[in-house]
Amino acid sequence: MKILVQKFGGTSVATQDQRKQVVGKIREGLKKGCRLVIVVSAMGRQGDPYATDTLISLATKENSRIRPREFDLLLSCGEIISAVIMTQALRSAGINATALSGGQAGIITDSHHTQASIIQVKTEKILKLMEEYEVVVVAGFQGVTTEGEITTLGRGGSDTTAVALGAALNAVEVEVYTDVDGVMTADPRMVPEARLLKTITYSEVSEMAHLGAKVVHPRAVEIAMSARIPLRIKSTFSEEEGTLITDGPGISGVEIKGDKVVTGLAYINDVAQVILTADRNLNQDGTALKVFQLLAEAGISVDMIQVSPDRISFIVEEARFEEAQAVLADTKLTMDAAKGYAKVAVVGAGMRGVPGVMARVISCLYQAGISIIQTTDSHTNIACLVKKEDMSGALRALHEEFGLGG
Ligand code: ADP
Ligand code: MG
Repeated sequence: MKILVQKFGGTSVATQDQRKQVVGKIREGLKKGCRLVIVVSAMGRQGDPYATDTLISLATKENSRIRPREFDLLLSCGEIISAVIMTQALRSAGINATALSGGQAGIITDSHHTQASIIQVKTEKILKLMEEYEVVVVAGFQGVTTEGEITTLGRGGSDTTAVALGAALNAVEVEVYTDVDGVMTADPRMVPEARLLKTITYSEVSEMAHLGAKVVHPRAVEIAMSARIPLRIKSTFSEEEGTLITDGPGISGVEIKGDKVVTGLAYINDVAQVILTADRNLNQDGTALKVFQLLAEAGISVDMIQVSPDRISFIVEEARFEEAQAVLADTKLTMDAAKGYAKVAVVGAGMRGVPGVMARVISCLYQAGISIIQTTDSHTNIACLVKKEDMSGALRALHEEFGLGG
């Protein structure tokens, strides 16, 4: 049995019209002689009745604090509703379909509520159902612990559900359908000149995703890479072929341009910077260690970390800023902290070992009148912290500088 997994995001299943287009994509999959597993996200965005953010605000209106366990129980409903409605749409189009929650589909996770990881996929039930049904629709973003507790996988988690199912079922391909044509050189909402990338390697797209490009979840890419499952990102609303995520040049005869230093850009909005200083060596007296221990205990992730003898700086997401300040008050260090920053990054396997990339980033932003607050880099990316109001200008300038517009 040839199995194809298709995943549809929130903006692909929100309205009846959109669901008709989804049915069209499913028909195309069936025509290839495959049985289909469809993974869906909750319908729509904030404000839509069953969207994830709407469910959150419903619960927090009653009481601003919600326990992670109930949070997961509540959020899982969004995808379950979506799976049932999608199944109805398929059945009314004459396609024999059935719906499953994540737990029913055999997605077993650890018990880390709101950010659970898939530890196992039990395929017996889904395989049995596929003998009877042409299409099995699975609620994305959720699973169940071995104790039967419902968990969710974190933002973008439906992508991970789809790829985990694809890997466990040995699917021919996993197709992630969304509201853009595929992985582009930058978020088209920020950079109108952004172009579609016909191919990109697993490691580059995973890096772009980690650096904020939310077109696909990084965990999903990593699972696809280790299971060697072909992964394609496509639009629900066009006939474009989308982006094929590959192992590297040469795979399945696809030609990859090797002349580009930078493949794409990514950004993370709404970050705060924290700078801690003192007149002593913070490494020697253990204060540096204490700082990061306190943040870790509070579950606050930090990024762009720089540690020098008398100064520690890093960024946190704005949503955790006040909490981070409170936790660090204990250290009695001088704290200079502010919201209102964004992190923009250039990503590309082609920059490995190429001299002068940092110089180009700096001069390009300088010419655009944008000051860089801080930078970090690896072999395959350079990230700059800038003022939030400079973010879109920085992205457009870098897009032009590295010739990404074509
Ligand atoms: P879905 O609900 O389908 O999962 P998401 O909103 O999670 O959709 O992801 C799609 C969005 O990702 C696009 O609408 C686009 O604004 C954004 N995006 C960010 N970076 C990129 C990029 N490099 N290429 C394409 N889209 C991107
Ligand atoms: Mg998504």
